Amino acid sequence: MTRLQGTGVVSGIAIGVLTFYEKETAVIHNRTYAGAEQEEHRVGEAVSQLDIELITLKDAALTSVGSQGVSLFEAYRMILQDLLFLEEIHALIYRDRMCAEDAVLEAGRSLAATLLPMEDAYLKQRAEDVKAVSQRLYEKLVGDHGDETLEQVQGILAAQTLTPAEMMHISRENVSAIVLEHAAENSHIAILAGLMDIPLIVGVRQGLGPDMNGLTAIADAERGALILSPTEEVLKQMEKRREQFLEAKELLQQYADRDTVTADGKRIRIEANISGLVDLDGALQYNVDGVGLFRTEFLFLGRKEAPNEEQQYRIYRKVAERMGDKPVVIRIMDLGADKMPDYLKTGEEENPAMGLRGIRFCLEKKGLLRTQLSAILRAAVHGRISLLIPMVVSLSEVLQVREILEDVKRMLTLTGEPFRMVPVGVMIETPAAALISDTLARNVDFFSIGTNDLTQYTIAMDRQNAKLKNYINPYHPAVFRLIRMAVDSAQKAGIPVSICGELAGDVTLCPYLISIGVTALSVSPTRVLTLRKTICEMRVDDYTDRNDQWKEYFS
Ligand code: PEP
Ligand code: MG
Repeated sequence: MTRLQGTGVVSGIAIGVLTFYEKETAVIHNRTYAGAEQEEHRVGEAVSQLDIELITLKDAALTSVGSQGVSLFEAYRMILQDLLFLEEIHALIYRDRMCAEDAVLEAGRSLAATLLPMEDAYLKQRAEDVKAVSQRLYEKLVGDHGDETLEQVQGILAAQTLTPAEMMHISRENVSAIVLEHAAENSHIAILAGLMDIPLIVGVRQGLGPDMNGLTAIADAERGALILSPTEEVLKQMEKRREQFLEAKELLQQYADRDTVTADGKRIRIEANISGLVDLDGALQYNVDGVGLFRTEFLFLGRKEAPNEEQQYRIYRKVAERMGDKPVVIRIMDLGADKMPDYLKTGEEENPAMGLRGIRFCLEKKGLLRTQLSAILRAAVHGRISLLIPMVVSLSEVLQVREILEDVKRMLTLTGEPFRMVPVGVMIETPAAALISDTLARNVDFFSIGTNDLTQYTIAMDRQNAKLKNYINPYHPAVFRLIRMAVDSAQKAGIPVSICGELAGDVTLCPYLISIGVTALSVSPTRVLTLRKTICEMRVDDYTDRNDQWKEYFS
């Protein structure tokens, strides 16, 4: 018996025969430059072929995983049609006299390289997408039309890596689990496997290979383990755990369509944190009460220039329309710190997390802010949008945003463009904002508490610094006092308060948060069901009565 360790990403336990899937090794081309026009023409043909392939895959995704899978292939199509990508290929062909094959790979590499240095999982995934699209374009140019042997795989599928396109050749009836050497925890493969309900383990780096073909295996995605040739005893134990897992899962699934109401009748809102249209699908499948945080800074990253008003308007409008009558909180771009595109950089900062970021940055770049606010007010006609200001430390910042909103309103009235004014809230994510939350509460329409930054600034520990992992206490009493202060201020002023940082999804903590008066929690879509189950099972009264326990813990 051998046990290999990775990370379980889509939970579940499967027992069966293992098949190792080997890709055909990448074909190396031996073409030389045949003139710019011919090379460009070949790229054009390959782009059209790939576009047709992506449309087919999109349809396949619609059939196998529903509408949620469609946006992944839409995202690929958007990269394929991205002017920046195509212009880079064009430049490489004309300027550097590269042949089509080299140009598409190089354009993919250089575009991905602009995204990779940013310490953000979402952008890293976008970089992967760009590389995947350019690789597939390359394969089209060298005449590889894809591998369909995956359709025959039964049982547990192991591979070094898989692409979303390859995933579409897999059926959940045949494949009981997937084990991969390379794939990020929040990669598209992970999203697709989640939607297809196939247990997934990634990061098994101890040499998965064809010698494992045909072995009996257990993929324990609960613990991130792949067990090869298990003993009878282990097999029996795992069978039992598998049954328990399936029972618990069925129970959890019952919460997918439910309202979130505590056992003693208090209605709590569970909303979704999103970074773009792609995340909406996951949110919608769990019947969330709205989008509690749309991190719009992601729309500005990984490009050579800022999206214009029209481009932003279309995205905000689409999110609002897809959410129907449910609210959507759009946060003003929180650029700066680790999220600053080159085209907006104004010199190096010694300490960017404490530098020109969030609303401070926007107030320096008023043109950029005006464009975003104009797009948001116009999109507000199509749904229930509110505006959230990030990284606030003073009332004056709120008042300045309000002034700019008035300006934007005047402009839109003058041009006759339809728009709607929106409620304005602030992020409570700096100790300063929490400490002046009484003043802020009288001047805004809602609070959203960002516990990620609130924690880092309160305990003065960089949230990105891996060396501090063992020092950061997410339950630090100082943070809880500030949360409590902000909640009290909101209640006194009669405005709603939600939590949108990571702590919002912490099931140990949510009873406390609810007992002090938080009525909305905004979390990443994957955390919705467990959070809802915890809330539906709790009684607010129990926790309010047991406040002594919390007092000791948090004060
Ligand atoms: C936070 O700081 O808690 C928050 C939600 O914002 P972000 O994680 O985007 O900084
Ligand atoms: Mg923050």
